[in-house]
Amino acid sequence: MKKAIFGGTFDPLHIGHINIAFEALYLLHLDEVIFVPTGNPPHKKHITSNYHRVNMIKGTIDKYDKLSLSTYEVEKKDKSYTYETLEYFKNSEKDVEWYFIVGEDCLLDIEKWKNPDKVLGYATLVVFKRTDKNNDKLKEYKEIIEKKYDTNIILLNNKVIDISSTFIRKSINQNHEVSFLLPSFVMEYIKKFKLYEKGDTLILKEKIKSLLKDTLNTDRYNHTMRVVDEAKKLAVLYGVDEEKAEIAALTHDCAKNMSYNELREICEKGNIIFTEDDFNSKPIWHAYAAAVIAKEKFNINDEEIINAVKYHTTGRKNMTLLEKIIYLADYIEPGRTFEKIQEVRTLAYDKDIDEAMIKAINNTIEFLMSKRSIIHKSTIEARNYLIINTK
Ligand code: FE
Ligand code: FE
Repeated sequence: MKKAIFGGTFDPLHIGHINIAFEALYLLHLDEVIFVPTGNPPHKKHITSNYHRVNMIKGTIDKYDKLSLSTYEVEKKDKSYTYETLEYFKNSEKDVEWYFIVGEDCLLDIEKWKNPDKVLGYATLVVFKRTDKNNDKLKEYKEIIEKKYDTNIILLNNKVIDISSTFIRKSINQNHEVSFLLPSFVMEYIKKFKLYEKGDTLILKEKIKSLLKDTLNTDRYNHTMRVVDEAKKLAVLYGVDEEKAEIAALTHDCAKNMSYNELREICEKGNIIFTEDDFNSKPIWHAYAAAVIAKEKFNINDEEIINAVKYHTTGRKNMTLLEKIIYLADYIEPGRTFEKIQEVRTLAYDKDIDEAMIKAINNTIEFLMSKRSIIHKSTIEARNYLIINTK
């Protein structure tokens, strides 16, 4: 029996992958090609969940007898090194002659992998071309590696279908037609679950981050990143859209290092009419200005995000969960070390968000009083509303 392992993120599976699987199957007279999608460790946010990637493969290859799927890597809790995966397959079916299908870039990188000797020892490397340009280079490198590791490498003379998952994700995001590049099951699946449409939030997040790097000092930038982490954690805990929380947190202090004159100007241009309290509370101007920048510069038109940014300093009555999350994330991020924070942190993570809000606002009011600062009406209204509506 001859079987090949075909690893990858398959995010999403496309006709290029299917093509390679069949090319390998026929050219090498294999009995089976096993798709082994890589796992998705929780901190790697840019990969679609294991669940969806696995379903797309399953639904597509179901009709092909010689293609199969293994969830070995996705079910593994920690990162799976390739040599471990190959070892697993090798041990599970000892009489099988194993092949391992990789793209040409992997051959060139093989020595950077963990235990390349084991990788090359457990299976015969089958390298498929991504273009027709590198043939000589690949041949040369194949010989070097073969000699060095006393192994046999197969350069697959496949026809090149020059598409990538990245291209497909981008195209879907731009609303371009890609149905001709995807197995019909995958296409329907992507539509059904609206996968990859969030790609623009990815671009948006990058855009915000690059503006932050240009305009915030290091301390403020680092603070912002800690608020992002905190907001995402709270979002998961309270069942709020993590993306929204991330975008609001990224944006909340984007105007923090501007002068009061600049802030006033931005607010005026953004048609924010200052109340008397607003005039007398300069430290809150950056929040209003950030809300304007969010709308005008980042084209964010989600009112909930805008309001979470706008009221992150004062709070207001009847706040949404997202608003509370941003307010609290800003307050309890790990860089804040004042004494009374721990209590708020504990309440927030004990799923008592309103009590956490009340404590946080109480502390803020006490602090403002000690500084002889005015207390913004919105803050008082936020507190009163919480007290009245929390048992
Ligand atoms: Fe702020
Ligand atoms: Fe902040």
